[in-house]
Amino acid sequence: MRLNTLKQVTTSMNNTGKMPVLFLGHGSPMNAIEENEFVRGFRNIAKEIPRPQAILCISAHWETRGTWVTAMKNPPTIHDFGGFPEVLYNVQYPAPGAPELAHKIASLLGETNIRLDYSRGLDHGAWSIIKHLFPKADIPVIMMSLDFTKSPQDHYDLARALYPLRKEGILIVCSGNIVHNLQKVAWSKMNKVFGYDWTIAANEKIKTFLIEKNHHKLIDFHSLGDAFNLAIPTSEHYLPLLYAVALQDKNEELEFFNDKIVAGSLSMTSVKIG
Ligand code: ZN
Repeated sequence: MRLNTLKQVTTSMNNTGKMPVLFLGHGSPMNAIEENEFVRGFRNIAKEIPRPQAILCISAHWETRGTWVTAMKNPPTIHDFGGFPEVLYNVQYPAPGAPELAHKIASLLGETNIRLDYSRGLDHGAWSIIKHLFPKADIPVIMMSLDFTKSPQDHYDLARALYPLRKEGILIVCSGNIVHNLQKVAWSKMNKVFGYDWTIAANEKIKTFLIEKNHHKLIDFHSLGDAFNLAIPTSEHYLPLLYAVALQDKNEELEFFNDKIVAGSLSMTSVKIG
C-alpha cells in the first residue's frame, strides 16, 4: 500500500474507528456508463472513504418476502431493466462475493428470518454506482434484500443490528432515491436538472429531518402529506435511506452531495454519514 493511501485510511478510521455509511441516489441506470456530475460525485465521495474490507449494499431493486443476503463466491452482474442501449447490457462488474460476511450478517440479525441466496447476483442498484466508487471491482460486494412485508419501523430496527459491521471495515451502501416517481418523470429530460414544486418541497423537508436527526419523521413518511404521497408513491427507493440513518450515531454528522433533482421527479440527493 502506498504511504499516502495508508495515511488516508488511518486518519479516516482513527477519529471514529468506524466506516462511514452511504445513501446514494442512483437515478437512471445510464449513470453506469455516462459521464456526468453525478458519477463525478460518486467518484469524489469514494476519495473520502478508507478502503473497505467489503461492501454491503441494500438496493431498492431487490424486494423479497423475508430478508435475503447474497452468499455466493462470484455474484453475476444482473441487468434488471428494459429498453436501454445494448452497451449497458454489456457492462460487467465482476467483484467477488463474501460468503463469510453473509453468514455473519445472518447471525447478527439473529431471530429475524434471514435466508442466504446463492443464485441472484448484483442488481443495477448496486453495480451502476459501486463501479464509480471502486472501478477495479476488487472489493467483495454482497447484497441484502428489502423484505416487502416489513413496516418502515421494522426496516429501521433491522438495520440497527448491522451497526457492528461499521467497526469492521464494512462499507454499507444504501442505494435508492429519496424522491422517485416514475409516473411523473420527464423521460426525455433524464439527468436534466429541474424539479416539480412537490419534488423540491418533499426533498427539502427530508433533508431538514436528516439534519435534525429526526428519524421518527423519516420513518413516518406516510403521514407527511400530499407532497410526500407524490414524492414517495412506492417505498422501495426511499427505504434504503432508513437503513442509512438507522446506522447513524447520535453525534455523527452527515454530508449531502449530488444534491440535485432531475427529470422533474427524481432526487439524486446522496448522503454520507460519518
Ligand atoms: Zn432504481
